[in-house]
Amino acid sequence: MGRAFVYVILGGGVAAGYAALEFVRRGISHGELCIISEESVAPYERPALSKGFLLPEDPARLPSFHTCVGANEEMLTPKWYRENGIELVLGTKVKSADVTRKTLLTATGETISYKILIIATGARAIKLEEFEVRGSDAENVCYLRNLADASRLVDVMRSCTGGNAVVVGGGYIGMECTAALVKNQIKVTWVFPGKHCMGRLFTPKIALFYEDYYKSMGVNFIKGTVLTSFENDSGRKVTAVVLKDGRRLPADMVVVGIGIRANTGLFEGQLNMDKGGIKVNGRMQTSNSSVYAVGDVAAFPIKLFGNDVRRLEHVDSARKTARHAVAAIMAPRKTGDLDYLPFFYSRVFTLSWQFYGDNVGEVVHFGDLSSGRFGAYWVDQGRIMGAFLESGSRKEYEAIAKAVKLKATVEDMAKLEREGLEFAFQV
Ligand code: FAD
Ligand code: NDP
Repeated sequence: MGRAFVYVILGGGVAAGYAALEFVRRGISHGELCIISEESVAPYERPALSKGFLLPEDPARLPSFHTCVGANEEMLTPKWYRENGIELVLGTKVKSADVTRKTLLTATGETISYKILIIATGARAIKLEEFEVRGSDAENVCYLRNLADASRLVDVMRSCTGGNAVVVGGGYIGMECTAALVKNQIKVTWVFPGKHCMGRLFTPKIALFYEDYYKSMGVNFIKGTVLTSFENDSGRKVTAVVLKDGRRLPADMVVVGIGIRANTGLFEGQLNMDKGGIKVNGRMQTSNSSVYAVGDVAAFPIKLFGNDVRRLEHVDSARKTARHAVAAIMAPRKTGDLDYLPFFYSRVFTLSWQFYGDNVGEVVHFGDLSSGRFGAYWVDQGRIMGAFLESGSRKEYEAIAKAVKLKATVEDMAKLEREGLEFAFQV
């Protein structure tokens, strides 16, 4: 049994949706493009899963957050794919790939062949078991990567109203899920190994602002330690977590966000790898010229950082690398190397921040941390390399993005601190 397509997108997440949009914009014929996804729904905006989807009132539900909601583009519902002649093969896992033969074998036994393949397999949540902790498959322990995880998290949350949750991991999932749990009337103890939350991006000063805010919302922090084991009832539920420092925390539920691994497994030994992902050039092309990789799974050169290869785990990068790959496929002569400005953001409670660039060099904070109107610049060798801003307006975010994109020259650090946002507006 087999089918053949000109273009196949492997994976049906954020990058797949944006790649499909770009194919349609540039003009494909019906029946040329196929998307294969393990998930049972058409591509959607994954960031909604830790935000609108978890709201206690009027939560976001599909179809309201299919790609490209929130990105000023049309919304790609299943009908859109039908009308554009795109074959959606959903609920189907690809279990092996052969880039020499240009074929994919699905778990249902079908062979799907392609002329051009775009790998958009994203990533999977790292499990506690990878750190020798057993029992994270209990009914009330939640990870969050896909719609099924989010639906389960909502069910568990609803059964724990008024109870206690332990959130494990001080990164994005920890931060956004803690806020969501609080909004759902659940008391949270947030446990992570670092000295402060979001240790890979936030400075201690920036983290202090958010941690103080979280404390004012009743969140309890336990830092500098990790979970070592679970205590269970006689059934499949966790009743407490035990930490490395010996503390025992009773828990009605646990949320774990301890990072991700890119889904590269199908291509190990077939394509060049880097930074835990599939290595691509500035046109998103892998070491096999018929195969492209985009989104969380792709490690690509960032011009702004001297072509340093990075694997970014954020939605803006998934959207832009996907569209660029399609441009490179369909208009090869007109498409050069992607010139990408890394962009990360988050929204928690009534707070909202954006970051552009790279967090290297010396940090200059500006504004008023106590009022929540503040930001920071990262300055390396006299140039702005990164910029962070809480509660900015669109114009302000555009200004800091421009300062980073142009690597604005800084002559006087004290002046930069005094000028704060004004500096960016003068660039
Ligand atoms: P994904 O969106 O993960 O899609 C991968 C797809 O491939 C999935 O559908 C998966 O099922 C499928 N797949 C994998 N292997 C196979 C296989 N063998 N066969 C078939 N299908 C397969 N980023 C931000 O910048 N801001 C945010 O606010 C933000 N919020 C987030 C909230 C959550 C809860 C999560 C999990 C992520 C968030 N991110 C955010 C990160 C962002 O969503 C990812 O960077 C983005 O989804 C990456 O897109 P992708 O298409 O590469 O991968
Ligand atoms: P992150 O990489 O953001 O954070 C992982 C956290 O877990 C870090 O605090 C890390 O500490 C900690 N950690 C690592 N190992 C252990 C361990 N064994 N026990 C306890 N803690 C540990 O990953 P998340 O899981 O938070 O997020 C998953 C993905 O989802 C990321 O790709 C992220 O970009 C994406 N996402 C993005 C959002 C956004 O952009 N707004 C929102 C939600 C998700 P340390 O740093 O000290 O190693």
